Amino acid sequence: MPSGHHSASKIIPFITFLTATKIITIFPVLCIMPLYLASLNSGSNGNCYYIGNETEAVLIDAGISCRETERRMERLGLNIRNVKAIFITHEHTDHTRGVEVLSRKHSIAVYITAATHQSSGLMLSPELYRNFTSGNTIQIGAISVNPFPKQHDASEPHSFTVSSGGITAGVFTDIGSGCENVLYHFAQCNAAFLEANYDEKMLESGRYPLHLKRRIRGMKGHLSNDQALEIFTKHRSPQMKLLMLSHLSAENNHPQLAYNIFYPHAIGIKIVVASRHVESEVYAVS
Ligand SMILES: [Zn+2]
Ligand SMILES: [Zn+2]
Repeated sequence: MPSGHHSASKIIPFITFLTATKIITIFPVLCIMPLYLASLNSGSNGNCYYIGNETEAVLIDAGISCRETERRMERLGLNIRNVKAIFITHEHTDHTRGVEVLSRKHSIAVYITAATHQSSGLMLSPELYRNFTSGNTIQIGAISVNPFPKQHDASEPHSFTVSSGGITAGVFTDIGSGCENVLYHFAQCNAAFLEANYDEKMLESGRYPLHLKRRIRGMKGHLSNDQALEIFTKHRSPQMKLLMLSHLSAENNHPQLAYNIFYPHAIGIKIVVASRHVESEVYAVS
């Protein structure tokens, strides 16, 4: 269990006692194990998402340095020894920057498709290199990870849902369009990191060159606030508790703007904007 002071059982009606070093959570009648989630960083400068249960966890992408990943996890009271695997969505460096060192230093297995591995140029230790293919669930202890393909301008882009104890969280970033896969998997989630990359007006009137604007808007680019809102409002599960808006552009979006767009549609779902600069709190979802 995360032992830092940031634990955010705000979402769940548990009684939580904070002590100096750990959190004791008293569960209601049924002893349901929560899933713990945190964004360690989110945006074109680096992406790393933590999802785990009491004793095991996975990272989806490792796009900040090993040292910064360690620092941020420590501040959150998250134990890096619980991280049993890193799953790579695609080869862009904002998703892979920390992988080699993190994997080597802490002996963490890296799950990556063959094509993504080749395009990434990552030098992974053969003992820690693992392949995955879409549609095949990977079991990491009690955690199940489901990879599925998505639309993005990379060699073999995937996203993942991560489940443990009946709770499912998904990472949906770097997505050009809400394809069937994205919609299907989003609908399974109790919690989701959902890309809200750009505001259409800000991108349009912004200083990016035309080819870049087209790339971002394109079917293999990124999700706008409006596209993400449509996915959220039309495809969320009645069981959804937490939505973390992710991968916001520094140029073409603003955290408050994104929050204001989603908040009126939240109907009880906690909305958080993942920062480009610091880690989020740890959220316990059950
Ligand atoms: Zn990215
Ligand atoms: Zn990308």
